[in-house]
Amino acid sequence: MFEVIKTYFSRFYISQKFYFLFFIFLSTKCFSFNIQEVANGVYVHYGVQEESNPENKGDIANIGFIVGKKSIMVIDTGGTQIIGKKLLKEIRKFSQLPISHIVITHSHPDHFFGTEAFLNEKAKIVGHEKLNRSLINNFTFYKNLQYTNIGLETIKDLKLVKADLLVDVNKEEVIDLGGRLVEIKAWNSGHTDNDLSVFDLNTKTFWSENIFVERTPSIRASILGWRKNLLDIMAMDINLIVPGHGKAINKIEAIKPMISYFNRLITQIRSFHVDNKSLQESINSILQKEIINPSNVNKESWILFTEYHYTNITKAFTELEWE
Ligand SMILES: [Zn+2]
Repeated sequence: MFEVIKTYFSRFYISQKFYFLFFIFLSTKCFSFNIQEVANGVYVHYGVQEESNPENKGDIANIGFIVGKKSIMVIDTGGTQIIGKKLLKEIRKFSQLPISHIVITHSHPDHFFGTEAFLNEKAKIVGHEKLNRSLINNFTFYKNLQYTNIGLETIKDLKLVKADLLVDVNKEEVIDLGGRLVEIKAWNSGHTDNDLSVFDLNTKTFWSENIFVERTPSIRASILGWRKNLLDIMAMDINLIVPGHGKAINKIEAIKPMISYFNRLITQIRSFHVDNKSLQESINSILQKEIINPSNVNKESWILFTEYHYTNITKAFTELEWE
């Protein structure tokens, strides 16, 4: 009998311990904030490949920083103030140099809602010439969207931080971080109408939110423009791509699936226009194909495909209608 009680208690103890450890695991899983050095002095925090939700707290975009001999450049600040604070805390573990620049790669909330956390750093905030206009027009909408998806009360208090160093379209701004030149380029419309890339000349690391790895690219501005931008990037001498979403990989692996997806979409939509199909008829015909054989529609096995593919069709349909 005593043995039975002992076993019962030890089981109880083990299960308590198990739940305790499991709880710790869960909470660290939700709040873990890792930084990886992907090239010498180039640090990335990978966002999860999900939609923003209360568990991931909007931590879905790649953000990070580049360290020079004189100063640090931050690239995007994350989807909430909490993520911005975490990024700043991590930066301070690596370096105490001043943060001279914060680059906002484009106006989507998962990339810039953490900027408030950096205000004491007095850094220059770098953006595309069309960034501020987009921020002003969409800020209230994005705030409501982030609050609805993530549910954090602090999102309601967020203040808009605009860029104060604007880069003209098709121009490059070269920033010297001390023994390290970084080229910031403003692109023609692709993912959005205010896409910026960051090119670290020392390591030939190219950071671009125009590149989506594994996650379905979401067309918000122009499919033809985006494809052209990708082909231009393909022609550049690049060692490593840091995408806006997904892991850092080589140029060809990063860009090929996107080109193949965009080409298929463009061909398909042009044929719908030739046949005088309406948008609804076009979507229905693709939906039917997807029901019969999903892998034939999502050939590159994109994540979050259904969430973005049909809005991509809608966007591309209107763009290609007037060719
Ligand atoms: Zn985006």
